[in-house]
Amino acid sequence: MTFPIRLQFLGAHSGVTGSKTLLEWNKQRFLVDCGLFQGPSAVRQMNWVDLPVPADSIAAVFITHAHLDHIGYLPRLYQQGFRGPIYCSEGTYDLAQIILLDSAHLEEESARFARETQYSNHQNPLPLFTTQDAENVLKKFKPIPRYEWTTVGDGISIRLHRAGHIIGASLVEIRMHSDRHSKTVTFSGDVGHEDSLTLKGPDPLPPSDIVILEGTYGDRLHERVDATEKLGTFLKQAIDRQGVVVIPAFAVGRSQEIIYMIAQLEQQGVIPVVPVVLDSPMSDKALKAFFSHDEDHRVNSSFNRHTNFYPQNFETSTSADQSMLATMRDGPAIVISASGMLAGGRILHHLKKRLPDPRNMVVFCGYQAEGTKGRFLQDNSATLKTLRIHHKEVELAAEIVTISNLSAHADYAQLCAWLKQTPHKPRKILINHGQPEAQGSLVEHIKKELGWDAAASSVQTTWDFL
Ligand SMILES: [Zn+2]
Repeated sequence: MTFPIRLQFLGAHSGVTGSKTLLEWNKQRFLVDCGLFQGPSAVRQMNWVDLPVPADSIAAVFITHAHLDHIGYLPRLYQQGFRGPIYCSEGTYDLAQIILLDSAHLEEESARFARETQYSNHQNPLPLFTTQDAENVLKKFKPIPRYEWTTVGDGISIRLHRAGHIIGASLVEIRMHSDRHSKTVTFSGDVGHEDSLTLKGPDPLPPSDIVILEGTYGDRLHERVDATEKLGTFLKQAIDRQGVVVIPAFAVGRSQEIIYMIAQLEQQGVIPVVPVVLDSPMSDKALKAFFSHDEDHRVNSSFNRHTNFYPQNFETSTSADQSMLATMRDGPAIVISASGMLAGGRILHHLKKRLPDPRNMVVFCGYQAEGTKGRFLQDNSATLKTLRIHHKEVELAAEIVTISNLSAHADYAQLCAWLKQTPHKPRKILINHGQPEAQGSLVEHIKKELGWDAAASSVQTTWDFL
């Protein structure tokens, strides 16, 4: 007897946020990723909508990695009655603790701010979830080792493989077997590449019948230039004119890569030693989590946390006072702060202070989703005279630059090269996690270069397979 597999994309089908896919098989329901919608407020409003199925009917959740757009809806799922296990890698669990508690804190702070300043259309603005919700759902996490099968339901088991995107990021291979039949569905989550200095690349895709593949850069190629060299050129220009370089990056994302690149540039004499500040309330915890997961670091890793990983004059600022001091510091200096897409957080205070001075520079080095302030600044910096921050127009005189190949996502050529490593042709590849154009483009690249059957989840969100 065989059962149909039903996949329903509840998020990330026409954009890059809100990743959550419902998988139904043999009268069981599972959710793969459980992320927040991020970006403009109309998109964020969707986070207040309950799931289309009762949360307590979901047997378990499988998480690919700990970015908020893949785990940030978990406290909302708990609020709706979900009490099952949440399977993920050890690295993902470590980062999820940092990220969910930080996110809950930001939710509580912004609700309090809106109440106090009455800057809200609501009588009583509420946080999307509280620290208590985050703590509750964190108790449901069940970290599992990679490469081993774990039974997660009746006839269904999962196995994790490295995805190379951030610490802990994993491909989730899901095997469903009834009688003598067995079917495998693999979710890529976000896929890294081989060009990272610090992180290992993705494991080959396991043989699968159906693959759910991310398409963030499905229509783009990263520049094929040495990212360290390019960063060095930019940093030197700003340092020579005594400027402050502001790098928007999430504390647990690309920050470690950038810190190590700056250290290398110093050691090679490309740039002089200048103060480098990682300004994030969770920066210390993020660094600790990074160093605790050697399994995701490069083989024969060239760095050593005690000798050559950090720039010579490196500091972390965790308190609000330290952060304020960092915004007042004279150049030359380098400040790395979140959020990476300028959606909020300390980065906005740095930009408010630094944008009006032409000696300063903003270096974008991560994906800027459509509708975010980061994307707006990146796309319009040549013509913009001011940027609106905290309801005020801030003069824009600083130089705005981008290093595209520092992204933690593979581009379409890297994705196709990675897919080619698997000897097994899947029955179907469904693309999610990308703008519709990016998904459509990746579908065409896969059909042309691999001859595989592919479709975009932006075209239809529910798929049945027998
Ligand atoms: Zn991600």
